[in-house]
Amino acid sequence: MTLVRLCNKFSLYFRFREKFFLQVKGLPMGTVLSPFLANFYMDFIEQSALHSFPLKHSLWFRFVDDILAVWEHGQNSLKVFLAHLNSFDSNLQFTIELEDSGKLPFLDVLIIKNIPSLDFSIYRKPTHNDRYLHFSSNHPPCVKRGVVISLVDRFLKICSRNHVKSELDYVKDILFCNGYPINLIENIIDRRLKKIKQENRKPVPLDSGTLAIEKKTFTTLPYVSKLSDKLGKILKRHNLSVSFKTEQKVEHFFNSGKDKTDPILGSGVYRVPCSCGRFYIGRTNQQLGERLQEHKISIDKSLRLENKNDNFDSALAQHIYENPAHLVLFEEATLISTVNGLPQSFKEAIEIKKTYK
Ligand SMILES: [Zn+2]
Repeated sequence: MTLVRLCNKFSLYFRFREKFFLQVKGLPMGTVLSPFLANFYMDFIEQSALHSFPLKHSLWFRFVDDILAVWEHGQNSLKVFLAHLNSFDSNLQFTIELEDSGKLPFLDVLIIKNIPSLDFSIYRKPTHNDRYLHFSSNHPPCVKRGVVISLVDRFLKICSRNHVKSELDYVKDILFCNGYPINLIENIIDRRLKKIKQENRKPVPLDSGTLAIEKKTFTTLPYVSKLSDKLGKILKRHNLSVSFKTEQKVEHFFNSGKDKTDPILGSGVYRVPCSCGRFYIGRTNQQLGERLQEHKISIDKSLRLENKNDNFDSALAQHIYENPAHLVLFEEATLISTVNGLPQSFKEAIEIKKTYK
């Protein structure tokens, strides 16, 4: 508990327009711990509300903050229950949506009354615009196939038999509008249908054979159209699984609205220029400011060295030792890529290649 408090305490600070703020309500956004704690708290509210109310629901499913419930005690008592549920935390207020013409959406499923049973179809919010990754976008073919597969699999898993046909036509239409060739769409749909039929026919035995996990190495590289597809195949032969990441995205052209990190406060791959026009490229997990300080110390140390065969702390120190007239322009040092995204070792390799080619 002390650890949890400590983690949250330090994640609740954020910076906006050069000023530091402390978030006073709720959990810090974007930390690993927050979703778990939020769910934990939701469970506590839910259990407290359910146990302290005299009338009981006949069905209750909750996913994070969405609840699907069946209430058989009339609308008046339902209003009382909602007020009861909302009395536990003023910052956590539920709203209610009742079935309309025998239909009720829950998450991405549309539940349809078809007495004596229920039918299911796909629910799309009125604001949904059916826009998916466009086929002409600079992404690996497997990502585009993945878009088709995810849409097809979703309706095959969710839709009741009498809703499959209309949903199938709908998915074909939206994929076509997003630039996907019709033969690719139909090809994937056929294969998914066959696969699901096969899976239904024979249950997968959980013997040691299926449980044995093959040892594989995974890595991420930037995606370069055509080249990456070939490279991926070659690396696969050497038991190296590569996933490709598109580096240049449209979103990078827009301001995120967040404060930029002060260059000397960040970490990653950095570049220090020398007065001779050459650059030193390095990487650091520390903050750049601290790393530059270390460089200064090792340069001072190298200048005091008498024997040239002595070990230098860095290539930068050696360069200054060998060219004492040169000046390292520490104030012009910049971070060229941060830790986020590409693994640092790749970034360093790429940047060195860029500078010295
Ligand atoms: Zn130099």
